[in-house]
This record gives sequence, structure tokens and C-alpha cells, in this order.
Amino acid sequence: MKNSKVCPKCGASDPERTKSFLMKSWGAVEVEQWCCLSCGYSELWMPEDEIESLTEKRRKRLGGKE
Ligand SMILES: [Zn+2]
Repeated sequence: MKNSKVCPKCGASDPERTKSFLMKSWGAVEVEQWCCLSCGYSELWMPEDEIESLTEKRRKRLGGKE
């Protein structure tokens, strides 16, 4: 939906883009949320440029080795 701008469930176009937060055991992540206002389907995307730092944060929080 993020890339196609079309709902994969019902095929409606023009999904709404908004911000949301995802709560993980290792912290909160601000994510991009795409909502279909036709059927109610929604999907969440972590910011691509933050995936690396989030992976690092998670590794430290979970006590992984450096
Ligand atoms: Zn839909």
C-alpha cells in the first residue's frame, strides 16, 4: 500500500497516510501508517533510514554482544 498507493485487500486507491507509534519491548518506534478508508485495512512501516539504528537499539536492549 505504501508503494502502490492501492489497498491490497479491497483495491481502493488513495489510502490515508498518517503517523503512529509501535511499542516494542525495547522502546517505541515512530512509524508511517497507511490506512484504507474503504475497508479499514492498515499497514505500518518503520522509517527505512532508521532501521539500522533501531536494530542496534534492539540488540543493546536485549543484551546482545557487541
Ligand atoms: Zn481496503
